[in-house]
Amino acid sequence: MTTIEHIDFKNKKAIIRVDFNVPLNERFEVTDATRIEAAKPTIDHILKAGGSVILMSHLGRPKGVEEKYSLNHIVSKVAEILGVPVKFASDCVGSVALEASESLKAGEVLLLENLRFHPEEEKGDVAFAQQLASLGDIYVNDAFGTAHRAHASTTIIAQFFENKRCFGFLLAKEIESLNKVLHGAAHPVVAILGGSKISSKITVIENILDKIDHMIIGGGMTFTFIKALGGSIGNSLVEDDKMALALEILEKAKEKNVKIHLPVDVIAADAFSNDAQIKLVDVNSIEAGWQGLDVGPKTLEALKPIIREAKTILWNGPLGVFELEKFSEGTISLGNMIAEATKNGTFSLVGGGDSVAAVKQFNLEDKMSYVSTGGGAMLEMLEGKVLPGIAAI
Ligand code: AMP
Repeated sequence: MTTIEHIDFKNKKAIIRVDFNVPLNERFEVTDATRIEAAKPTIDHILKAGGSVILMSHLGRPKGVEEKYSLNHIVSKVAEILGVPVKFASDCVGSVALEASESLKAGEVLLLENLRFHPEEEKGDVAFAQQLASLGDIYVNDAFGTAHRAHASTTIIAQFFENKRCFGFLLAKEIESLNKVLHGAAHPVVAILGGSKISSKITVIENILDKIDHMIIGGGMTFTFIKALGGSIGNSLVEDDKMALALEILEKAKEKNVKIHLPVDVIAADAFSNDAQIKLVDVNSIEAGWQGLDVGPKTLEALKPIIREAKTILWNGPLGVFELEKFSEGTISLGNMIAEATKNGTFSLVGGGDSVAAVKQFNLEDKMSYVSTGGGAMLEMLEGKVLPGIAAI
């Protein structure tokens, strides 16, 4: 894997694909700068090595040029985080960008306007990619969140930088961590799959069955399994058309010697709300009018030894509706168990938008071995797909 550590940046212009798709408030101020902070080590490394940096990113989903999606809004934040002045080019290609790039000196940083102001970006247009490529001497991809898209700036551009293209620290770390789980992981390997639906995770489940020893199922997808097995799920979330698939997964797991752990008890509620009435029930006997929204204490007790003995843990999806305090206990307890195991040497990888949100909300981020930033990209890697942005490097 070629990373920025293998390349000489002295007096070179590095064009870096970053993910600065950050949330802005109504005054266009950055409300969460995590993604900018995450790109800092790569940028610092290149500046320190005597290079200059051209940053390119998308922001939101603009339809053509839309002022509210201008990356100009974030220039001061980027400068503040990097601790150096940041220049801005009001277009990512054309004479404005070319002139800005030509006048860039070693140690300086230039941010280009939103790539998606040009529809060619998402189309993966070769001529557009070549225009972007003409701005820099070296191409660095440090945006994992878009690595599964064959866009001009994430993939197509790489062909113009033979031997002069590499991964930034962030992307290299993502690849390394996911590979650690997918290839050559220390056993036992435990995968925890929660969240709302089986349908969005089925390909992941199928691909990882060969690599894991235990699969813990939680969250809303529990009830499709339970119903398929003949249990009563009341008004719990269910995908009726995925029941056959659920049984197939159970069968495949058996063939592959993977132990499946379904919840045994659940917190059932009479409404999807923090004000709901709740009761603890057996997972197979939820009455009509009630829905399972979190796992119960017996379930959590049963998970303890599995998590404790795991050497590798992959966690994708919450065990319950953690956004509502009343149904957050299962997800919090599991998070604490994983944190404890991690302290004792287990490698733990958390990924997928909602598990990452949960881990952040419960202050467990620093207690996991790695928290992946790219939702869709991570799922595709877990599905066994080769991501175009990674292949291109
Ligand atoms: P996903 O995007 O598929 O990972 O699903 C995450 C969402 O699943 C979160 O917003 C949770 O609130 C929700 N969720 C977790 N457990 C349940 C459940 N038992 N019933 C309904 N939704 C759930």
